[in-house]
Amino acid sequence: MSMEYVEFFEELKKEDVDIAGGKGANLGELTQAGIPVPPGFVITSATYQKFMDETGITQEIMDILDALDVNNNKELQESARKIKKIIKETEIPDEIRSLIIEAYNALCHRIGKENAFVAVRSSATAEDLPEASFAGQQDTYLNVKGPEDLMKYVRKCWASLFGARAIFYREENNFDHSKVYIAVVVQEMVDAEKAGVMFTVHPSTGEEKILIEGAWGLGEGVVSGTVTPDTYWLDKATGEILEQQISEKKTMFQKKSENGQTVQVPVPDDLKNKQVLDAEELAQLAELGKNIQEHYQFPQDTEWAIENDKIFMLQSRPVTTLDMTAAEGEAVHEGERTVITKGLGASPGMAAGTVKIINSTDELDKVQEGDILVTVMTTPDMVPAMKRANGIITDEGGVTCHAAIVSRELGIPCVVGTGEATSILPENSLVTLDGNKGIVWEGKLVETAKKEETSEEPTVVLQAPLTVTEVKVNVSMSEAAKKAAATGADGVGLLRTEHMMLTTGVHPKKYIKEGNEAELVRVLVENILKVADSFYPKPVWYRTLDAPTDEFQSLDGGEGEPYEHNPMLGWRGIRRELDEPEILLAEFKAIKKLHEQGYTNIGIMLPLVQHHSELRQAKKIARQAGLKPQENIEFGIMVETPAAAMTIEDFIAEGVDFVSFGTNDLTQYTLAIDRNNEKVADLYTESHPAVLKLIERVIVECNKAGVKTSICGQAGSIPAIVEKLVELGITSVSANTDAVATVRETVARVEKKLLLKAARKMMQE
Ligand code: PEP
Ligand code: MG
Repeated sequence: MSMEYVEFFEELKKEDVDIAGGKGANLGELTQAGIPVPPGFVITSATYQKFMDETGITQEIMDILDALDVNNNKELQESARKIKKIIKETEIPDEIRSLIIEAYNALCHRIGKENAFVAVRSSATAEDLPEASFAGQQDTYLNVKGPEDLMKYVRKCWASLFGARAIFYREENNFDHSKVYIAVVVQEMVDAEKAGVMFTVHPSTGEEKILIEGAWGLGEGVVSGTVTPDTYWLDKATGEILEQQISEKKTMFQKKSENGQTVQVPVPDDLKNKQVLDAEELAQLAELGKNIQEHYQFPQDTEWAIENDKIFMLQSRPVTTLDMTAAEGEAVHEGERTVITKGLGASPGMAAGTVKIINSTDELDKVQEGDILVTVMTTPDMVPAMKRANGIITDEGGVTCHAAIVSRELGIPCVVGTGEATSILPENSLVTLDGNKGIVWEGKLVETAKKEETSEEPTVVLQAPLTVTEVKVNVSMSEAAKKAAATGADGVGLLRTEHMMLTTGVHPKKYIKEGNEAELVRVLVENILKVADSFYPKPVWYRTLDAPTDEFQSLDGGEGEPYEHNPMLGWRGIRRELDEPEILLAEFKAIKKLHEQGYTNIGIMLPLVQHHSELRQAKKIARQAGLKPQENIEFGIMVETPAAAMTIEDFIAEGVDFVSFGTNDLTQYTLAIDRNNEKVADLYTESHPAVLKLIERVIVECNKAGVKTSICGQAGSIPAIVEKLVELGITSVSANTDAVATVRETVARVEKKLLLKAARKMMQE
């Protein structure tokens, strides 16, 4: 067999992205590391190239693309359809065909099944190009059986390189269509007798315990939460079983032998209350978990399956929700701690480095990789320097201020609201900060490697959502979208626009003043596209600009921003946009353009509304841009003012698809506490009964009217509040990237609790 065209996982390493694509190379790496993934092979990028060249279709396809105007949506869709048809209908040359069939037969032989069921997946081949340029995420075909079907789906994967979105993306980013290649992964489908999940540390505290959940049949039951699995806790060091709970497992998922479809069936009586995993299997799983963590050097959240007494790992991805203080705490030298200042823990983790005090944006170059950025309060134009920093400390601000939001999204530890950091921390001194407890110590107490971008961590198979109440994620920076999507969130419940408008460092108003609306639209399209694509087809709620005047002053063109005594109560949100409708119109035009390219997953959300007439006016501007609110695009509001909460009926009558609680603002406006004022931060609490009452009335009214409800303020990342919201009947919850997994766990637990309560009540009646 040729080594270039087809490679078994055993022959591939993680460096082989060029030939095997990201997924293929990762599966190779895991196999070589001794981790038992279901066996398979990769039809390499060279095969795709050979197919395109030998059949002579490359030129035909390039001619279609050369003649295409990607901004003409009809043409784009038509060209994509034509190209895909060409690829799907062109015969695969004999040489390639026999190599693929030979590999498939070898795989079947190896697993001892004739015409085995396999999964066929496209695998993108260049790490430096975003997945979007391949648009390959969707192309996974399960339960493919026999050589003929295999050929069909391989061609489908190749054709996926020319979806309308993928073509548009490459044109927008000037990638040469003929230089982008694709590989295809072919992998055995495991027909599990038992399956489940395993965390290699305690999923929320990071304690060195292994958590295993298992049930009968395929893993779908455990992953989707429809089956209550057995739960086992193991000591990571000794492997000792610390605790186990054997549940009653009523149903299980099985594969039908004829077509491989998954069906839910009752568990046979003798297995219902039987322990799923014996001591030997638990020990083997725990050992594997430790090896995987060792391999990735990070705690892992995995899926496993057992078929014929053999364990397979189906998925592994980093546990992104850990409170790292627990894990890193040991590194702190006890007894040597001198606390220099305290504030609020705003972004978890510990960091040490050299203090750089930033008094004005001219000084941002002072901050080098690994320093600690110290400033009165961060502003949007500081983001590039924030990215270089190991940690961030501010004088002002509460846990929902700019510094807090951005550092949580970047995964950088942060302490806000110290009241004094810029005046008491000596420039160039070494400090350590704890972003959980809000403490700053003298000296270097921990070794901090800058947190890795978890987006680059491999995910072998994408996981289905676990809960009925959707768990979404908040995104502010388009470059953080992939990391956010890797959490498996059900969509973006808040896409903040402020940062996207600032990627060029120019105030949006300047573009308009200079008659350059087109450039503003282009910047927006480029940024929103990255997010919409990373999540496609899951919904992304784009929130229109909410720029307090004080945050935009330092930008090019921001000199004219008015000075306001109370920017939080001032000219921001929808009220400002209705005064400056040109910016709002440009935003709507950008969304219209993306909708035309197929990104119909984008919805619109208006910030800081206080009267339903604002909704009416904004819809009118959306129509001017060619959008049809509530007809072809989801349209909603944020509930951030008590006024909106108290008159929600009027907004419902005016027409909304959804509302989302912006509790950061709702709390400050209900309690009269400036969210950025550290002097009153101790009184700032989203669980104040007044805030909860407002939320409750909105959920009740919206549920009556069939309007969806969500939350995207910081409270959506706080388990105790999320619990209340699920009980009240909220439709979805949107959390920060670092909190998605914990929130999902909380939601799943509350949903089960509610079901149990209802079942018990029914039994009593
Ligand atoms: C909110 O107010 O809760 C919110 C999510 O918006 P922002 O924090 O951007 O004001
Ligand atoms: Mg807000």
